[in-house]
Amino acid sequence: MTPGDYIQFHEGNKMGIRSPEGDIIIPAIYDFVAYPSDGLFTVTEGDYTAYFDEAGNQVLPFSNKYESYGNFTEGKARVLFQGKWGFINKAGWEVITPQFHYTDDFSEGRAIVRNEKDQHGAIDEYGRLVIDYRFPVLTNFENGYAKFGDLKTWGLIDKAGNIVVPQQYISIGRVYRNTVTVQVQDGELYREGELTIGGGVTWNNNLDYLNELNQRKKQFIAASEQLVQEMYAAGCPCEYQRFRHFIEWKNPVGFIDQELLFSVFQKRLQVIGTDLYRCDHCGTHYKQQWSQYSAFLWVLNVIVSGAANLINKGTEVPATIPVALGFYGYGVEKYNDKYEESDIETVMNYLRS
Ligand SMILES: [Zn+2]
Repeated sequence: MTPGDYIQFHEGNKMGIRSPEGDIIIPAIYDFVAYPSDGLFTVTEGDYTAYFDEAGNQVLPFSNKYESYGNFTEGKARVLFQGKWGFINKAGWEVITPQFHYTDDFSEGRAIVRNEKDQHGAIDEYGRLVIDYRFPVLTNFENGYAKFGDLKTWGLIDKAGNIVVPQQYISIGRVYRNTVTVQVQDGELYREGELTIGGGVTWNNNLDYLNELNQRKKQFIAASEQLVQEMYAAGCPCEYQRFRHFIEWKNPVGFIDQELLFSVFQKRLQVIGTDLYRCDHCGTHYKQQWSQYSAFLWVLNVIVSGAANLINKGTEVPATIPVALGFYGYGVEKYNDKYEESDIETVMNYLRS
């Protein structure tokens, strides 16, 4: 049974827990009931903590002996005593004396610990420091290995603390049957491969699309900079209907072309408030706002207003609009037949016409 099967429920400001079938396991008379971990619920009431089993029986009585109590994993729960962390077992005995500046929960017989200098090591089930404090970041052990690094690059160590994969990957996946997916960054290029622990890496082309997109983005930005400069030399970009329409993308899907073009144009505008800009040449105001479209997608909306001395000199917006980079998360053709994928030069010529 997974923890997610249980249901926390409230009565007033108190909390209890129900079984997946809806039966009350722990009545709603406590401040907080955590989802079960290692077969036990951590229950808190004021400064007191107790542990209940999955039948709802109190296994360890309410106590405030420790300043903080963690959830059980592998038969032990973290406890904080006079500012130091140690562990108790399911009988409530203090099996690892509080002595650590910080410790994480046990996973695969190791608990990650941290000292006052923010260096990480690991202890075994007896509380012995089996991996010295020497890693700026160290994750819990999983399938025999833990990731270490500095948040920029990562490597892997085994349970004895031996470095089995050097710290040179921007991403390392989960080890499965002695192999793991790794990614490297070489300048602006990204590569992915399957690394065999103790062996080599078989590189694949999974990130080619990303490299290609990054390359096109750079080209698009360069072309946009040239376009904006050119337009300012003879007036300003605001005068072009097609440019304004492109900037003022109003649909609820991220539009890469628009974001990049506006980021370039924005540098030439005067900041007159939060997310508010003004063109020095004609007085047109641009308001930018970001709206969240989905968990990972924020969409830029730009509102154009206050065109004081605007001379319309562009050609009107046609029925079909060329785009070079498209939309975040959607193929252009799938999203709307108003847009057609085109090369950067075609888009720039469209905007300047
Ligand atoms: Zn202007």
